[in-house]
Amino acid sequence: MYDYIIVGSGIAGAAVARKLAEEKNKKILVIEKRSHIGGNCYDKPDRHGILVHEYGPHIFHTEDEGVREFLSRFTEWYDFGHEVVAKVGDRLIPVPFNLNTLHMVYDEKKAARLEEKLVKEYGEGSRVPIMKLRENSDADVREIADFVYKNVFLYYTMKQWGQKPEEISPEVTGRVPVVISRDNRYFKDKYQSMPLHGYTPMFEKMLAHENIEVRTGTDCRRVLEFQDGNIYFEGSGYTGGVVYTGAIDELFGCRFGRLPYRSLDFRFEHLPQDSFQGHSVVNYTVSEDFTRITEFKYLTGQKDAKGTTIVKEYPFAYTGAENEIPYYAILNEENEKLYEKYRKLTEEYPHFYLLGRLAEYKYYNIDAMCRKAMDLAEELA
Ligand code: FAD
Ligand code: UDP
Repeated sequence: MYDYIIVGSGIAGAAVARKLAEEKNKKILVIEKRSHIGGNCYDKPDRHGILVHEYGPHIFHTEDEGVREFLSRFTEWYDFGHEVVAKVGDRLIPVPFNLNTLHMVYDEKKAARLEEKLVKEYGEGSRVPIMKLRENSDADVREIADFVYKNVFLYYTMKQWGQKPEEISPEVTGRVPVVISRDNRYFKDKYQSMPLHGYTPMFEKMLAHENIEVRTGTDCRRVLEFQDGNIYFEGSGYTGGVVYTGAIDELFGCRFGRLPYRSLDFRFEHLPQDSFQGHSVVNYTVSEDFTRITEFKYLTGQKDAKGTTIVKEYPFAYTGAENEIPYYAILNEENEKLYEKYRKLTEEYPHFYLLGRLAEYKYYNIDAMCRKAMDLAEELA
């Protein structure tokens, strides 16, 4: 009846569903355990009419023309060069730390000298991971590295991961390098934007196809069974394909133990004032228990909205409790070994594919996830 059953309606599930349905004329069932589609990109207007991102701020950014073109079929865009500042004492400084930040934290003469050194050492426009900058043997460069490490990375990373920057994968801190330029934008990609009317309408259009059926409010474990190399759908043998974008350990009853994740508690507040912080995102890098505050009207261009809605993010270790969501895989050798044990179990099932941030236990952005989904659809054909 269905050529493919796709578990999860985030960007991974939705993109692969659309491609297979439209380009390969496959009959698709998308199963989603939440009451809505869109995965962590889901957004909706709150009670005050302000469009909010239920699962934290999501900014679309990419260099991938194919991904941009594919998604542009389902949305127009609000171009938005996302800028982040960090609250350090009573100052707000640009993050990633860049030459503008350098001139804010050192006096003119010293900043000019340090700038010259950084440009000479790394080249104008380069992006240097903090852990790399710290290895530099020059005392001036190390002074900058120490400042950035202490004021931008150390406390924020402790909150986010419960570990120091040197204890987590360098890939993670490397996402926010020190930038040798005057560009205050958080990302460097050619396209930086938000879906003009929000992510949810974009997902609705992506999944609106005659070959796609979507069932929300359905945990796949209620309808799919995996036993000795056979897949059963609603009790009957099923020989079509399954693309799974959920957490892999949960699919196998966490039999080898839980894969560790970090989770977040999002606390929303609506305030009767026009503006709270005047910025889309302020990172709290040296104080507070939350990591950052997002003020949605600055993220989505709703500048004329009455009142303002903000969200604070409080990180914690995911325990698997019913109301918790696993957001971030914790990348290290031990966890990857455990992941691999689970992945091996899937080899028994010939038409079973793992796709997505959870299923692959990786740290993907939206665009990279969409690219993988598009490529998988090609491969499956
Ligand atoms: P998800 O979006 O998590 O979708 C997986 C879906 O599967 C979920 O809807 C889930 O309910 C469903 N599911 C799981 N298990 C089952 C089951 N058993 N049965 C049925 N359904 C199931 N990326 C960017 O590019 N820009 C950003 O600014 C950005 N900000 C982020 C901020 C935060 C706080 C987080 C956590 C991530 C951010 N990301 C950002 C990353 C982005 O969220 C991911 O790249 C993207 O959501 C991955 O899509 P996915 O489909 O793999 O996973
Ligand atoms: N980070 C930090 N301070 C900041 C911004 C980022 O220490 O002000 C570190 C932190 O460890 C974080 C990582 O860099 O988890 C990656 O940041 P990014 O903004 O990419 O995280 P995401 O938006 O994916 O949560």
